[in-house]
Amino acid sequence: MSEPLERLVRHANETRVVVVGGGISGLVAARECAKVGLRVTVLEASEAFGGVVRSAEVGGITLDVGAESYATRGGVVRELLDELGLGDDVVAPNPAGAWVVGVPGVGAAPLPKGGVLGIPDNPFAPDVRRIIGWSGAWRAYVDRVRPPLTIGHALSLGKLVRSRLGSRVLDRLVAPVTSGVYSARPDDIDVELAAPGLNAALTRTGSLTGAVAELRARRASSRPADAPASDVPVGSGAARTPAPGGAVEGIAGGMSRLTDALVAGLREAGAELRTGVVAESLGRTDTGWTVSTSADEQPVEAHAVIVALPEGPARHLLAPVVPGLEVGDPVAPVVEVVTLVVHAPVLDRAPRGTGVLTVPGSHVAKALTHSSAKWDWVRDAAEPGIHVVRVSFGAQGEEPATAALDDDAAAALALSDAARMLGVELSASALRAAHRSRYVQSQPAATIGRAAETAAARGAVRAVAGLGATGAWISGTGLAQVVPDARDEADRVRSAVLWRG
Ligand SMILES: Cc1cc2nc3c(=O)[nH]c(=O)nc-3n(C[C@H](O)[C@H](O)[C@H](O)COP(=O)(O)OP(=O)(O)OC[C@H]3O[C@@H](n4cnc5c(N)ncnc54)[C@H](O)[C@@H]3O)c2cc1C
Repeated sequence: MSEPLERLVRHANETRVVVVGGGISGLVAARECAKVGLRVTVLEASEAFGGVVRSAEVGGITLDVGAESYATRGGVVRELLDELGLGDDVVAPNPAGAWVVGVPGVGAAPLPKGGVLGIPDNPFAPDVRRIIGWSGAWRAYVDRVRPPLTIGHALSLGKLVRSRLGSRVLDRLVAPVTSGVYSARPDDIDVELAAPGLNAALTRTGSLTGAVAELRARRASSRPADAPASDVPVGSGAARTPAPGGAVEGIAGGMSRLTDALVAGLREAGAELRTGVVAESLGRTDTGWTVSTSADEQPVEAHAVIVALPEGPARHLLAPVVPGLEVGDPVAPVVEVVTLVVHAPVLDRAPRGTGVLTVPGSHVAKALTHSSAKWDWVRDAAEPGIHVVRVSFGAQGEEPATAALDDDAAAALALSDAARMLGVELSASALRAAHRSRYVQSQPAATIGRAAETAAARGAVRAVAGLGATGAWISGTGLAQVVPDARDEADRVRSAVLWRG
């Protein structure tokens, strides 16, 4: 090794970075820093790494109880999985697609193919008409004869759809998608963020349905041949911003294998991984930072700190040392996911495809994933006649109906709502095991005004030397957003810290 290179390696080895938070954003950021030889410590408050990407054994099967897939757009998550040796285990979901339930006068129907955020490209298509009826289809037809917006662009998705296509399209097709996927109401969703290019296509084509058709055609021509045409990540409770109609993938054995592989890689690279350690405050030193924790008498010292926490704890930690950043009072949706393992051969025929989105207000739960119909690996892990369903409760501005219940009562409520959503009988004796988890989600990145808020927070953090922030609250939720942001933020911080003195 040449002398300058040796010096550089020594410099890297003497440079310490503390990553606060051991969810996927923290683990990816830590990996980027460890790659160039920095001394890395990860501090995780809970007893396990992975954050939302976690598993549990339910009825003898190891299942994802948080995130269960990732959006393929951008290819970054896939690239990471390949690097970690998981590429061969990447799997596509059953392309059968999901259903919508609670449609007035109709009940349940497959979600139409060929939409963007539930907005159809043809209101007279039989699968769309089945849900909105003839009167809804004729109302939506007004879109074709109405002049397009002439001044500026529409901001609110709800307002745009209501004015152009009518309330049936909004309530029965769009609201179930935004509520199930983003945990947000259509009125609060920013069109441009949720469906980039839709506004411009509307001006070009003269109608919203025409714009949807154009966007779909553009996506189809850029989609890999083996990707499913459409898969709404049902019941994830994920307020992420998937490419509308975009594809998702998973890992055989569960997304939690990503967590395990990241942890194993960091251990191999010599990183210090600590669980059960709550970071309580940050302090400045002449050479960098200190992190006071619940577990150490003396604060942990570092040349740089990357904060990879949910919004509330991140602002709490950062605000005292980042001028212009406020602690604020982030109102984040709380969701509860109840995973049920049931003996129900009646579900072998997957009566509602891969899962169900609900018309808001029609059911207690918000969405359901029929995991053993969606993922072959789950079906194969279960005994014949055994099924796995995940029922999600709670949305923006709406406490989960399970919140005040004990675990048994929550499981019973999930079971009865699952039976209604799937259109089958599921008696109490069908239940083999249940697991419940609670998550505080990030504010959906696609809500109106959110982009400006997070850009301001990011700008404020970046103005402080040796400090970085990443994680779903600032990058947008969903692994396709979180992974590249964590990588880029770690790159920025590591370059700056390696360049110092
Ligand atoms: C129910 C649910 C399902 C989802 N499903 C999908 C999906 O299928 N596909 C998809 O792409 N995305 C999904 N998402 C979104 C995705 O999982 C998240 O965007 C992503 O995992 C967030 O990662 P993160 O590292 O930013 O945060 P987190 O996973 O929340 O990790 C933050 C970590 O910080 C720790 N922590 C908190 N405070 C402190 C402290 N003071 N000191 C130290 N540690 C602390 C926490 O314990 C946690 O481990 C889902 C989200 C939810 C809630």
